[in-house]
Amino acid sequence: MVDCKYLQGVRFVAKPLKLIYQTKQNNKMKNKTEQIAKVKKVRKINEVYFVKNDILFNFQRDTDNSKIGNMIQVWFIPMEWVRAGKMLDDSKVCFDCQHGQSKDKTCYVRDGVSNLGLLSKTRKFTRIQSKLTEYSQEIENNILEMCTNEKVRFGAYGEPILLGEDLVRKITAVSSGWTGYTHQWMRKESIWARHYFMASVEGKFMNATAKKLGFRTFFVGETDEVDHITCPASAEAGKKTKCDKCTLCSGIDGKGKTSIKILPH
Ligand code: SF4
Repeated sequence: MVDCKYLQGVRFVAKPLKLIYQTKQNNKMKNKTEQIAKVKKVRKINEVYFVKNDILFNFQRDTDNSKIGNMIQVWFIPMEWVRAGKMLDDSKVCFDCQHGQSKDKTCYVRDGVSNLGLLSKTRKFTRIQSKLTEYSQEIENNILEMCTNEKVRFGAYGEPILLGEDLVRKITAVSSGWTGYTHQWMRKESIWARHYFMASVEGKFMNATAKKLGFRTFFVGETDEVDHITCPASAEAGKKTKCDKCTLCSGIDGKGKTSIKILPH
């Protein structure tokens, strides 16, 4: 027969032990939940890249640009460059742009420090070539997550029409604002771009033609030639703001209704 006092003692000790164990378990669970919430909160995608039609598409968070400000920028680089580790023909991403390397060679990205930055980006992708993958649903999800409630600049280098209407529409729907410019506004298959991008124009004739096609224009030239708003980030407007705050250059579906002008820079 077991001593009754002994049993009572067991019960007396066992109850608090159980409580202590449960409290520890609850605390562990709480900590885990808090940790998961923290990880979810701090997940910030800084870069997404993929290959499509032998072109490398690179979404890159940029926080250090004096005119642009804090925006996600999109780069288009021919895979031919990535394979060679150097810059070659640009027509695959710039089409027949007048500023391209086979024409006037006046693209501001292909000059000085910006050009070196583009070369360095190209070489970075040369080093990680084996990790580059084709466009997929997972990549699209990452792009949309990255761009949600963020400002996006379509086309840091190359033609943003390369992204296609479907992806541009999805990105602009989740972003908190965007800017974009196309030199390919005269192409029949690029007409969708007027909803999201400005037509880059130089001269009154181009300006009038792009407007007839339904585009808002970004006019580079002598600013008294056209009756547009002067870009507030321009030197002539006193650099009052940056693109991430302004986002006026966002086509007919974006912010503002008027066209923009700026002196050649
Ligand atoms: S008008 Fe606004 S968005 Fe367009 S280039 Fe100037 S500052 Fe940037």
